[in-house]
Amino acid sequence: MSRLSGQTTLITGGSRGIGEAIVRKFAAEGSNVAFTYVSSEAKANAIIEDLKDTGVTIKAYRSDASSYEQAEALVKQVIEDFGQVDTLINNAGITRDTLMLRMSEDQWDAVMQTNLKSVFNLTKHILRPMMKKRKGSIINMSSVVGVFGNAGQANYAASKAGIFGFTKSIAKEVGSRNIRCNAIAPGFIETDMTDELDEKTKEQFLAGIPLKRLGKGEEVANACVFLASDESSYISGQTLSVCGALNC
Ligand code: NAP
Repeated sequence: MSRLSGQTTLITGGSRGIGEAIVRKFAAEGSNVAFTYVSSEAKANAIIEDLKDTGVTIKAYRSDASSYEQAEALVKQVIEDFGQVDTLINNAGITRDTLMLRMSEDQWDAVMQTNLKSVFNLTKHILRPMMKKRKGSIINMSSVVGVFGNAGQANYAASKAGIFGFTKSIAKEVGSRNIRCNAIAPGFIETDMTDELDEKTKEQFLAGIPLKRLGKGEEVANACVFLASDESSYISGQTLSVCGALNC
């Protein structure tokens, strides 16, 4: 089944983890894909090589989503290369976990710039082309931590909570142009990001997940396909949790 045939999707942070799963799923659903990375050039190239027989166009761009100028140049280049962007997925994100008493200004700023300002940067530049087309879907990767908070993640939780207010506001601003904006709140998904957590924290998370397992990137990607496709044509300004009922 190809639910996104002929479309183009721009995904930030597509070289690893959830972003990589989204790249693969969107290609399988018939969408052309433009994705970004910062340091994982070899991984990005390997994904393109792996997907070369899918019949869609896939391109990777080195672009730091936290930079306003790089986001502007990226969107310009992607529109030049693909002619359009139907769906933007603001997925790039980092953690710099530590308790507040130890948190440096740099750790706060890095997380806010990469996780929240990036969402502004990309959305700001994609809106005009989407408005011209009178169609678009913007999907912002938040986290259940943005809803419930987490000790040692005040910077991360604040950045992810900020995404909810941004998402609802954009949905209201551009709904009349047939542009939808939604957020996804993953729970605990198996990626490099969660590999970094110590065993005790992982066990605590697992104990609180009613489905009794970690999620997979592909399960988050499935939610993205739904929010990108016409199956969700009347859904905007919402948050879809993909969390195995964690903290619900
Ligand atoms: P990950 O495995 O660490 O991968 C992060 C991706 O983002 C990589 O492709 C990385 O590129 C890219 N990236 C990092 N900084 C960037 C920047 N400034 N500009 C562009 N790309 C950048 O992370 P993940 O676990 O897949 O998480 C993806 C998203 O889901 C994040 O927003 C995260 O907060 C959110 N999330 C994850 C979980 C979870 O359990 N994993 C739960 C809730 C929410 P390089 O490869 O080049 O470094």
